[in-house]
Amino acid sequence: MQTEEMRLDGNAAGGMLREVFALEVTAALARCAGCGSVAPMGTLLEYGHGMGVVLRCPTCDTAVVRMTHTPGWVRLDASGIAFLMIPETPTPAAQV
Ligand SMILES: [Zn+2]
Repeated sequence: MQTEEMRLDGNAAGGMLREVFALEVTAALARCAGCGSVAPMGTLLEYGHGMGVVLRCPTCDTAVVRMTHTPGWVRLDASGIAFLMIPETPTPAAQV
């Protein structure tokens, strides 16, 4: 399987992200630690695998978020995020 065939957008990781974040974070704005671009989490590129996901910056390909399941744990590496801004209220699209 080619890498491009495994790639989705960050919205595909919404369910797994909700395991860690109590709020909907696909609309949250993340600044990439690699290039400084700011974009909604849902626009990151998801590369899924059996144990979890890697969300990469569409501009510079930095691994922004890595989430994996291990027995008894969900491990989150968000070292690729310089900052994250989570809206306090759901976006109009999320209120449907
Ligand atoms: Zn970047």
